[in-house]
Amino acid sequence: MLEISNLNKTYPNGVQALNNVSLKIDKGMFGLLGPNGAGKSSLMRTIATLQDPDSGTINFNEIDVITQKEQIRSLLGYLPQEFGVYPTSSAEELLNHLALLKGIADGKERKNMVTNLLELTNLSIHKKKKLGGFSGGMKQRFGIAQALLANPQIIIVDEPTAGLDPEERDRFHNLLCQIGENVTVILSTHIVSDVSVLCKDMAIMDNGRVLVQISPSMAIEKLKGKIWKKIFDKNDCQQTSKYKIISSRLIHGKLMLHAYSESLPDNGFELDVPDLEDVYFAYIKKIIEVR
Ligand code: ADP
Repeated sequence: MLEISNLNKTYPNGVQALNNVSLKIDKGMFGLLGPNGAGKSSLMRTIATLQDPDSGTINFNEIDVITQKEQIRSLLGYLPQEFGVYPTSSAEELLNHLALLKGIADGKERKNMVTNLLELTNLSIHKKKKLGGFSGGMKQRFGIAQALLANPQIIIVDEPTAGLDPEERDRFHNLLCQIGENVTVILSTHIVSDVSVLCKDMAIMDNGRVLVQISPSMAIEKLKGKIWKKIFDKNDCQQTSKYKIISSRLIHGKLMLHAYSESLPDNGFELDVPDLEDVYFAYIKKIIEVR
């Protein structure tokens, strides 16, 4: 269990990136959802021991993450938002080198580990290729391979699917799903569908604060019977301001509105089945009361 309590961080420029953040994260896939600037990367970097908070604590089982950095680093794999590779190295060479840096000194053990990870991430056939020629999806899978070196118990992946095409994203989802069966995987993202596909628990962050920690299925359940849809003409936008609007989307040139209401908001509205996107916007727009 990873337990984060009352974490605060204000950068020298005065931005408070973490505002009393508390979370309890169990084994499995955990989604950290929030818009750009919410504080997700700041939290990820803090858990990965790359920066210290101003106050608060993080514990992983018996380990105090903030003071016992070496202990936690040996249990941690991290795929940062910006993951640079040496473009002239092959996947196999760089993974071998990174394994050595992780302290896997035994040559045979290292070779086995590299072979297995290339296999798991579906990169075996590309192992001799230079990383500079890898596609976005291949680079991300290589990023996961290096995050998995030395069997980590916590894996942190920061915005991993941004920039991937749909097929690459599916592959990456499958890979994360496989990994998340045995360890704690924290997936930070602004893409709601990443979380709805993968995670059994999640938190929504905005402006440095955790708005809610809840399972996606429970969050959706709570919205049942409260999400209404209506199609408006594009030019009718003004009259929509009287509703608690969750989202408005253009569909075939018309405006499809999702509104939150305990009862029928108005003529012409129909009850709709809520999804995680409705949950996300309901919290981000403070339509649902935050804890
Ligand atoms: P997210 O990952 O959710 O996009 P970040 O943690 O990157 O959010 O950023 C949270 C806030 O902190 C933003 O306003 C960002 O501009 C600011 N910020 C992030 N890193 C730094 C830094 N090193 N120095 C100053 N401000 C920063």
